[in-house]
Amino acid sequence: MNERQRYRTVDLPFYRSEIAPILPDRVLDFHAHTWRCRDWQKVPWQAGVKGAKYMVTTPDYPIEQLLKDGKTAFPDRPYSAVCFGAPMPAADLDRTNAYTLSARRHTGLFPLIVTGRDRIPADRLRAMIAAGFFGFKVILNWQGNDYSNVTVADMIGPAEMELADELRLVVLLHVPRSERLADPAIQKGVQALSRRYPRSQIVLAHCGRCYTPDEMRDSIRSIEKLDNVYLDTSMVMDPTVLEIIFDRIDSRRVLFATDFPVAAMRGRRVYVMDHWVDIVLEGYEKSDYRLASNGIRATFMSWEIALAIRRAAERVGLSRSRLRAVFHDNGMALLDRVKKE
Ligand SMILES: [Zn+2]
Repeated sequence: MNERQRYRTVDLPFYRSEIAPILPDRVLDFHAHTWRCRDWQKVPWQAGVKGAKYMVTTPDYPIEQLLKDGKTAFPDRPYSAVCFGAPMPAADLDRTNAYTLSARRHTGLFPLIVTGRDRIPADRLRAMIAAGFFGFKVILNWQGNDYSNVTVADMIGPAEMELADELRLVVLLHVPRSERLADPAIQKGVQALSRRYPRSQIVLAHCGRCYTPDEMRDSIRSIEKLDNVYLDTSMVMDPTVLEIIFDRIDSRRVLFATDFPVAAMRGRRVYVMDHWVDIVLEGYEKSDYRLASNGIRATFMSWEIALAIRRAAERVGLSRSRLRAVFHDNGMALLDRVKKE
C-alpha cells in the first residue's frame, strides 16, 4: 500500500468516525516545531555522544512541511500552530529564531523565541516580541536521554520572567529530570515561577512530561491551584493521564498540542513499566524508546492524542463545548492576552 492509498483507506475513515466529530471549526496546535539543520552547529543524533539518539527525527522540517502535516492531520479544518525551532544545545539561536519568525508570513502560525536563562538580553527579547513572537520556548540545556539534574531556575531566569510578567508572554517549559513534574524540586521551581510572575502564562510541555498515569498522579496537586500554569498535550496519548488532569483542574488550562514532526508518525506512545515507548510502523529512523512493526495497524500520533483527550473527557463527563475548546479556544485565549503593541 502506498502513502496515498493508506491515507485514503486506513487513516481518513478513522478520522471521519473518531476524530472529526469532536473537533471545533478550527484547530490550534499549541506545540509544533519547524527547523532547518543548517541553523544547527551539528545534528544531535549524529554527534555520537551518550543519549544522542533519544529522539531521532527529520533534520529538516520547514514551515511548509509543518503546514502540510497540519493539513494531513486536519484535512477539513483550518490548522493553526504555536511553533518554534529545535530547543536544544546544538541550535544557533539567532538563526533558529530568525527562521521561526518567518512563519509569521503564514496566517495562523504563532512563533515562540527559543531562549533560556541569560541567553538573549532582555531588550532584544522585547524587540523580538514587538516583531511578532508570542513568548518563549525554554531551551533544554542538556543532551537527549540524559534527563539532567538542572532546576527550573537554571533554565529560565528573572530577566526573561520579568518580561513575561509584564507582557503576559507564553513561557513554554519542558521540565527536566528523570522524575519530571513528579520531582519535588521541579514542583517547587514551577510554583516559584507561577507565584513570582503571576501574569506570565506558563505552559508545561507534554503535561509536565507525564506520559504515564503514575507520573501525573504524583504531579497534579503541585499545580492544581496555579491558575497561570497550563498543560500542553503534545505526545500524551494515555487517557488516564488526561482523566487525572480533568478531574483536578479546570479544562480551560488544557491545550491540545502535537509536537510535530514527532506526532506525524503513525503509531502510539504507550508505557512499559515506568517509561514511555513509541510503537510505530516500520520505515522511520531508529531511535531510543522506538519500536517498529508492520504487524500492527496504526494511524497518526496526533490523532491518538486527540483520542486520549476524547476518552478522558467521556470518563469525567466533560461537556462537548468544554472538550471542543481544548482544541482551539483554550490556547487562543493565551495568545490573545499577549501584549503585542
Ligand atoms: Zn517539542
